[in-house]
Amino acid sequence: MFDVMNNKKIFIEKTFKMNINLDSEKVNKFEEFMNHMLLWNERVRLTSITDENEIIDKHFIDSLTVVNTKLFDGHKKVMDMGTGGGFPGIPLKFYNDEIELTMIDSRLKKIEYLETVIEKFNLKNTFALHGRAEDYGRDNEYREKFDVVVSRAVAELATLAEFCLPFVSVNGYFVAMKGSEVEDELNDANKAISILGGKVEKIMKFQLPDSDFSRSIIVIKKVELTPKSYPRTSGKPKKKPIKG
Ligand code: SAM
Repeated sequence: MFDVMNNKKIFIEKTFKMNINLDSEKVNKFEEFMNHMLLWNERVRLTSITDENEIIDKHFIDSLTVVNTKLFDGHKKVMDMGTGGGFPGIPLKFYNDEIELTMIDSRLKKIEYLETVIEKFNLKNTFALHGRAEDYGRDNEYREKFDVVVSRAVAELATLAEFCLPFVSVNGYFVAMKGSEVEDELNDANKAISILGGKVEKIMKFQLPDSDFSRSIIVIKKVELTPKSYPRTSGKPKKKPIKG
């Protein structure tokens, strides 16, 4: 599996190219995580990607790209919304174990799997919550309580902003991980971002190391509180996104 030396070497080289320095203990965690995920993937569909090199690129390296925003350093309260099999949340926790990590997903089986990951790696201050963004976003225990909310492959930006911005504290950030073409999506989401209290701070465009996979990271700052009427009830942000 991942302990084939060559895969490990490739992973280390790629993180290096991204200016991310992982010590051998951390690299070993990624290795064990891959083995654990592939084992569980036979029971619960966590990912369609089972080739180890592809897992390295499309799950591990891709998840770590947000580290270059510098928003995941130090002691931060981070949420991964629609985490699925723990991406990008688990790689970010391996990168910096000072992060207090909350992962949310509406699929119970994924949350049950993530609980095994938390236990296996003895991850402190790490929580896997079952339920919908729209419901947790109205709960005062979670609303406006996070320094950074990150999300990958969950919904179009206008919908995603309504899922994520309510959790971000003022002056915190919502980080949306997207593919190469984001301009149309961003235009469609401008009104939602502004109504929900956000302001686009920057868009980072790049390719994953040694590949032609293009990615964009949209960094949105929370500049004002989200109006109490958002998020709307379950299903509405997706069915009827706030648009201009
Ligand atoms: N973020 C992971 C990744 O990049 O591999 C998973 C992406 S998967 C395509 C989308 C996930 O978002 C699914 O696991 C789904 O259950 C979750 N999801 C979609 N809408 C949601 C909502 N309203 N609240 C919570 N989770 C949601």
